[in-house]
Amino acid sequence: MGDFDLQRPSVAQLRSAAKLVAWPSAAHGIAPARVRTHQDATPGQTNCPGKDFRRYMSDGQFLFWVNEARDGLEPAVAPGLPLPDGPTAPIAVP
Ligand SMILES: [Zn+2]
Repeated sequence: MGDFDLQRPSVAQLRSAAKLVAWPSAAHGIAPARVRTHQDATPGQTNCPGKDFRRYMSDGQFLFWVNEARDGLEPAVAPGLPLPDGPTAPIAVP
């Protein structure tokens, strides 16, 4: 998937991740706000998924995209500007 401390996730990855979370959350009645990152689950053990993905968790944008997907919409993913201390190049798409 990439190292989002070093690369920026692509729009397609962000959209797919939102849809991937939306489906079981809707099917099993799990509130999107309960979604956590790998780092949240294992504090101090990993930076996964990296700062340029975690930013969208921290500011609520990812949950907004998940809710769009839950509503049957195509998540309107619009990555923000690069973080001041973050990666600037998007992940290469083969
Ligand atoms: Zn991980």
